[in-house]
Amino acid sequence: MKKMEQLYEGKAKKVFATDDPNLVIVDYKDDATALNGKKRGTIVGKGAINNMMTNRLMKMLEKNGIPTHFVEEISQRETVVRKVQIVPLEVIVRNVAAGSLSKRLGIPEGTPMRKPVIEYCYKCDELDDPMVNEYHIAAMGWASDEQMAKIAEYALKIDSILIRYFKDINVDLIDFKLEFGVTGDGTLVLADEISPDTCRFWDATTHDKLDKDRFRRDMGGVEDAYLEMARRLQIEE
Ligand code: ADP
Ligand code: UDP
Repeated sequence: MKKMEQLYEGKAKKVFATDDPNLVIVDYKDDATALNGKKRGTIVGKGAINNMMTNRLMKMLEKNGIPTHFVEEISQRETVVRKVQIVPLEVIVRNVAAGSLSKRLGIPEGTPMRKPVIEYCYKCDELDDPMVNEYHIAAMGWASDEQMAKIAEYALKIDSILIRYFKDINVDLIDFKLEFGVTGDGTLVLADEISPDTCRFWDATTHDKLDKDRFRRDMGGVEDAYLEMARRLQIEE
């Protein structure tokens, strides 16, 4: 596998072409942003942890019947994945109220949801990723009804698998964001990452935050939170 030209540089990752048109290499950075890029910083060691955690979780989800973009980890920070056309949606799943849901609906953070909540946001930095519903998605043609049915089914299945997985390391999965994409042969797969950048993880006993909220909210102990998640998952560094 040859790493070729850079195709894209995002806020947290770079994407490179390879000599296989169906594969790309993602390279995870230590850069951190919040408030849609308005707050910037570095979280030392984050790139490696997010890469290895994402790969661990994607492999586990594959075994449980969820198709993913994962192909092969090639270094601490780099992974070969199937190249997809990203469905331009952030798929958010919530088990406990936090963040923007708490603000929008006036529900205290930490309030359990009676059942998981799925939200969709249109991926568009200039518009700050506005929330949309299935009618907007169909009307704009961002995904077909069949794709949306699968996305919701996969999102709920991933939620129940991940809740159990994190419970074993005494972590409550509060909420998380997923991205899906379509491969060259038309298959819908889970793409992007699953990490403390994209999930809220709370210690199940102390309710300590073990995720990017420590950076977003200037709480300190940011690196330690990522390291603690890596330690509990026994991810080598
Ligand atoms: P952002 O673009 O929001 O700043 P990142 O820094 O994480 O985010 O950049 C990674 C980019 O790669 C994102 O736009 C993401 O949607 C995209 N991406 C993730 N997985 C794949 C994939 N398998 N194929 C192509 N693009 C992908
Ligand atoms: N999230 C994300 N990327 C985004 C927005 C949200 O990964 O651009 C994740 C975030 O880490 C959290 C969940 O999605 O786990 C719900 O985030 P929320 O809508 O509460 O937004 P926030 O409070 O982060 O603005």
